[in-house]
Amino acid sequence: MAPRRRPVERPAVARAQRFLQGRRERAARPSAQPVSRRPRPRSGRPGVPVIDLHDVHKTYSVGDIAVHALRGVGLRIECGEYVAIIGASGSGKTTLMNILGCLDTPTSGTYRLNGLDVRGIDEDALADVRNREIGFVFQSFNLIPRTRALANVELPLAYAGRHRGARHERALAALRQVGLGDRVHHMPSELSGGQQQRVAIARALVTNPAMILADEPTGALDTVSSGEVLGIFGRLNEQGRTVILITHEQSVAAHARRVVRISDGTIIAVERGERAEALG
Ligand code: ADP
Ligand code: MG
Repeated sequence: MAPRRRPVERPAVARAQRFLQGRRERAARPSAQPVSRRPRPRSGRPGVPVIDLHDVHKTYSVGDIAVHALRGVGLRIECGEYVAIIGASGSGKTTLMNILGCLDTPTSGTYRLNGLDVRGIDEDALADVRNREIGFVFQSFNLIPRTRALANVELPLAYAGRHRGARHERALAALRQVGLGDRVHHMPSELSGGQQQRVAIARALVTNPAMILADEPTGALDTVSSGEVLGIFGRLNEQGRTVILITHEQSVAAHARRVVRISDGTIIAVERGERAEALG
């Protein structure tokens, strides 16, 4: 008799989607969520790495089977670095990104974000950290359909309780920063893939986060659009932002200053990227 298989669930992805959905719902009532008064990880503290992972494991249970997606990952990323994480499909990249972005937690091991162990931070405070400190960019842009580019970019600010005038102004500035000042009133369906991804980058930037986490951001784009998106990440890094770029393509990873190679849930190599050479 064939073993009964439960469908594979991806709770981290579902949680990310709920997170984006949550932003949208809170946008309708900006003052509903009080800002947490608990201690929060602060970026850019001297001598404290932004990311500090120690012996991180992640095991998913699928029926009776344990899937070891991460097997003892250790990684430090300093403020202002540009790091690519490269690996084949199934090597654990998205699992790692979900943990780095506090969308999921390790099964064992420690993760310190700006020096604070994320296990000690409650869910509300973590949501607040995600919203303020981390800008997420995904392969599948995740824009809200039938909603203009400007309104899509304003959403995280609405969630943060910003009033309309300030939201508008900052969203406009973020769209200009990604070269879309002339597309602010377009719907996602009226934009090319590359333009949609640039709207998603503007949305990630609008809260002025210290860190950008991008999971296969060029995976659905043609070469020209990929180049534009990578150009934006390069400029953001030059402005001092920490950029973590996840990819399975060597040519994309090469844009970073440091390339971390992951295979079967472990880091197997750390190399210098082209940017390290170019920028010294
Ligand atoms: P990548 O992003 O490098 O393609 P993932 O992190 O998505 O890799 O997946 C790593 C491994 O963990 C794969 O074997 C995948 O099937 C498994 N996996 C990922 N998410 C889940 C989940 N929610 N439940 C069960 N297995 C999962
Ligand atoms: Mg992935």
